[in-house]
Amino acid sequence: MSALMERAGIVPLARGRILQEVGEPVREALFPHSGVIALISPMRDGRGVETAAVGPEGYLGFWAVLGSDDRALCRAVVKEPGTATRLSIDSLLAISREYPPLSDLLLRFSKVLLTQSIQAAACNDLHTLEARCARCLLHAHDRVDQNDAVQMSQARLAFMLGVRRQSLSAVTRSLQARGIVRLEPGCIRVLNRASLEASSCECYGVVREAYRTILPAAG
Ligand SMILES: [Zn+2]
Repeated sequence: MSALMERAGIVPLARGRILQEVGEPVREALFPHSGVIALISPMRDGRGVETAAVGPEGYLGFWAVLGSDDRALCRAVVKEPGTATRLSIDSLLAISREYPPLSDLLLRFSKVLLTQSIQAAACNDLHTLEARCARCLLHAHDRVDQNDAVQMSQARLAFMLGVRRQSLSAVTRSLQARGIVRLEPGCIRVLNRASLEASSCECYGVVREAYRTILPAAG
């Protein structure tokens, strides 16, 4: 793995930065040390919905690694700031060919992403906005290091869920009235994790289980 590090560089992940746009060729892979990258399916009318997320357990650049076409299939935007190791796709492919455990890890993460995307498609169609909101907050809360504050405005959460801000406000106010979260400027603080889990749909557990079984070190 030292060969990997010799060819790599460190880059900041600034909140809101678009790292990859739909249709762009993928020339680099990013391995977050911290922070979260959201994968979003943007629509022509400006709306979009988050279908999966990449944190320190994964990497961005899987479209090229999976072969056949190196163009990105969705938008990648920084949801939580941090830093990442950057490596050219050519270097990554060369090293993974020489080091099979890395190749296996890359494919495993692709499987987790596929699970996230499939589950998100079903969830967005079948489950209530409150359940989806709770699911999204739980995933974000899992990555919070301290003080239970999910650094996400309601406007951004509404965008990630693909709904209007007014629709989401009714849900978040209800969660706050029941003592489950507290709405603060620019963030949502989780006050009662157990109740938030009870408010979520089964999709949160399905994705967690996928991480646990496919990427045990990250689960
Ligand atoms: Zn769901």
